[in-house]
Amino acid sequence: MNYIRIWQACDIEQISKHLIIVGDITADCANCREFGIEYAQARSCPKCGTEFKFIACRSAGGQTMGTAVRRITSRCPNLTFVDYGDYKSLIGKKEARDFFN
Ligand SMILES: [Zn+2]
Repeated sequence: MNYIRIWQACDIEQISKHLIIVGDITADCANCREFGIEYAQARSCPKCGTEFKFIACRSAGGQTMGTAVRRITSRCPNLTFVDYGDYKSLIGKKEARDFFN
């Protein structure tokens, strides 16, 4: 299977509410920051109950990215994989905007 990155318009708050972020071993919920979630089984957050629709990977970058995307999307075929760098930069902009408003 080959992968290609597609750019699309998004509502960052909607992504943030339904995002699970994979770390080195387990994952955490972007909505409530609960950590230690087993992402391969998780359909929703055990703490806040939000349904996961998106998944990102914090530790993958550069040459390891393809391997991480392959591993994660094969375990979680129903979730949309989003780029963690893109997510971080949009959340950073949103937080800066909220801070000055
Ligand atoms: Zn949560």
